[in-house]
Amino acid sequence: MFKIDPDILVAAICSWGGLAQIEKAREECRELIEALDDYLANPTAETINHVAEETADVLIMTHQLAMIFSPSSVHLWVKMKMERLKGLLALGGSVHEIPHRDEHRRRDLQGPPVGGES
Ligand SMILES: [Mg+2]
Repeated sequence: MFKIDPDILVAAICSWGGLAQIEKAREECRELIEALDDYLANPTAETINHVAEETADVLIMTHQLAMIFSPSSVHLWVKMKMERLKGLLALGGSVHEIPHRDEHRRRDLQGPPVGGES
């Protein structure tokens, strides 16, 4: 969907270090939240463009977080969560209306299935 060159991400992590990139990820997530707040309060072409810019920053930083923490674990989580999302969609409901959402959350906290296929 988006072309993010992993070599550039590795170079960024090697240049500035993992901790600096983790802090940068936190900063970019805060900026995205602020941009979304601005958009929700005032949906204009300008606020939409700002959300797009901050979404790009967060995508770039979350890819780095995956590299720093555990690409294989993130891969399993993404796979599991996309399968869950697909299942929710098949039920025709909204994620906000799922009665046992806390149960999903508890399962999430247990971590991805061990030995899952990649
Ligand atoms: Mg930003």
